[in-house]
Amino acid sequence: MTLQVETTTKSNPNLQDQPSAVPDEFHTQHEKATSGPGSIPRPKAVDKRSRILWENLVPFVVFHALIPLAFFPYVFSWWGVAFLPIGNYLFCSLGIGAGYHRLLTHRGFQCPKWFEYTLATLGMCSLQDSPIRWALVHRIHHQHSDHQPDPHTPMAGVFWSHVGWMFVENRELDSAVMYDRYARDLLKDPYYFWMQRGGRWVLVYLAHALIITAIGFVFGWLQSNDLSTATRFGVQWFMWGVIYRTIFTWHVTAAINSAAHLWGYRNYETRENSRNNWLFGILTNGEGWHNNHHADPRSARHGHRWWELDLTYVTLCLCERIGIVWNVARPNRTQLERKSLVG
Ligand SMILES: [Zn+2]
Ligand SMILES: [Zn+2]
Repeated sequence: MTLQVETTTKSNPNLQDQPSAVPDEFHTQHEKATSGPGSIPRPKAVDKRSRILWENLVPFVVFHALIPLAFFPYVFSWWGVAFLPIGNYLFCSLGIGAGYHRLLTHRGFQCPKWFEYTLATLGMCSLQDSPIRWALVHRIHHQHSDHQPDPHTPMAGVFWSHVGWMFVENRELDSAVMYDRYARDLLKDPYYFWMQRGGRWVLVYLAHALIITAIGFVFGWLQSNDLSTATRFGVQWFMWGVIYRTIFTWHVTAAINSAAHLWGYRNYETRENSRNNWLFGILTNGEGWHNNHHADPRSARHGHRWWELDLTYVTLCLCERIGIVWNVARPNRTQLERKSLVG
């Protein structure tokens, strides 16, 4: 994850300045749909020589090991439970869904830099890797969905697609050639490049954890004027506001790679097995309408039918109303009609 590549402007110097800076080929798959889980091997760049990515595996295991503490009276909090969907919306839907995904990966809308960086920084607080790495992996996923070398297709195994792929080195994802090919526009941005080097984006995650814990402590202190109560509030805010919220957002996001390529309905004929999964459509505030998304990746609107609630898109529309978001890519109805499976 500690990338040591240099930016290059050789092939397309204007890439960053274009509203649709993502080359069309990253939105196109060339192969036909595959059959089912286990039907293809893992990517070729994952083999016996691949090392275990302890830097991903250890936090994942440690965070999950803290789950039983949630049931102890000292830690349990209904307010904490209630915060999960709120934190999921704030850090994951705005940070990952709107920021990392619809904006940085697909350039589905435009906004001022300060707003783009705000969304990306919220994304870093979801501990789902750096903006550059996330976009790189996801662009490869779109180009090769459910085929080699899709980094996380359930066709190579359900567990693999959900979380397994994050724990084993995929040498292709670390090569400078791939970074140059799939993430050149983001590498040219000084903020993302700075965050990428030495894994600095992790410091953002740690800082936000500290801030949330401190707010909890101060809140408890103001309520009670008592150190032990303040400490308990700090612990609860840390556990629910950071740890459990992060676990929750990890799994709902990972489910888009696993469940939303296996279970659900299809509105469109696409060359992979993407599905509209209502459960994860709701839990991710729109990302789970994944078949719609694969049918029209540039569109910032993932919910296409009236019941496909897409709160992330609704948020973008509100931002558009107040003028901090513009050029929102809407579903291309002409192209989608050709792929439509519904009458
Ligand atoms: Zn997909
Ligand atoms: Zn996408």
